[in-house]
Amino acid sequence: MSTPLGPVDGTVVPRYAGASTFARLPRVDEVDVFDVAVIGAPFDGGVSFRPGARFGPSSIRQASRHLRPAYNPAQDVAPYQVLQAVDAGDVPCNPFDIDAALQQIDDGVTELLASGARPVLLGGDHTIALGGLRAVARTHGPVALIHFDAHLDTWNSYFGADRTHGTVFRRAHEEGLLIQDAGTHVGIRGPLYDARDLTDDARFGFEIVRAEDLDRIGRDEVLDRVRRRVGDAPVYLSIDIDVLDPAFAPGTGTPEMGGLTSRELLALVRALPPEQLVAADLVEVSPPYDHAEITSLAAATLGYEITSLMARADRAAHTQGGEP
Ligand code: MN
Ligand code: MN
Repeated sequence: MSTPLGPVDGTVVPRYAGASTFARLPRVDEVDVFDVAVIGAPFDGGVSFRPGARFGPSSIRQASRHLRPAYNPAQDVAPYQVLQAVDAGDVPCNPFDIDAALQQIDDGVTELLASGARPVLLGGDHTIALGGLRAVARTHGPVALIHFDAHLDTWNSYFGADRTHGTVFRRAHEEGLLIQDAGTHVGIRGPLYDARDLTDDARFGFEIVRAEDLDRIGRDEVLDRVRRRVGDAPVYLSIDIDVLDPAFAPGTGTPEMGGLTSRELLALVRALPPEQLVAADLVEVSPPYDHAEITSLAAATLGYEITSLMARADRAAHTQGGEP
């Protein structure tokens, strides 16, 4: 394996200057082969309340300048020395046609998967996950979903629309993109339109870990539940930033009180099974409602932790294969 082309060196070019890619990684056209690709999906035509997530990708990239990406002590890995990560730019999502936008996301992610890379999507509202999951399931087969969110996102329809940010995992279930009984929602809370939302969700084979369960059963038990559900299946990780409490992520479309702290969420994400992670998305950052880049910084940091997980998986694989 040749030495990866890393991010711009923050000790040479200050972090607020220079490239505006995610974590100041190289652009996809600057390298021949890559292991991980961050790709923006600036689409928010599926939201039910506050819009603005179309500005998420550029805002997350801007906030990612705060990162010092060389070494991640929390996961003991120098992610961008272990794997070649790139920023693949944005999918040009049609702002007026949900199906067209989903197809464009599917095409963009399919292209990355065909080159052997693991995609990390930056939303966009949660609708974009359907495009990502379609592409991933076509390549890897059905996946186990690990879903961090205040909301189930398994409604049937909203105002007659069946492809929205609140219905995306019901559609994914119906389309056979998810492994039955392998998926978990973590961080669920808030009132519902109908108690039947919960029974429907259970019928689709999801398990719910409510936000308050974290206090009651603790982080390790939550992680055990998630891991038991996943088994050894390929994992698609979907993080709706509204899983965080509005104190930690005000810039989002449908905030709910009583959410996770950023420290809790980081600890959970860092402890997910690295080897099985084939793709991820980070969605629902709405910069117009953000203050002081709080929400975008949370998403940027999570993106860094996700790519660090992927690097740990690669490092373990190289070690097993006898490579340095
Ligand atoms: Mn949500
Ligand atoms: Mn969501």
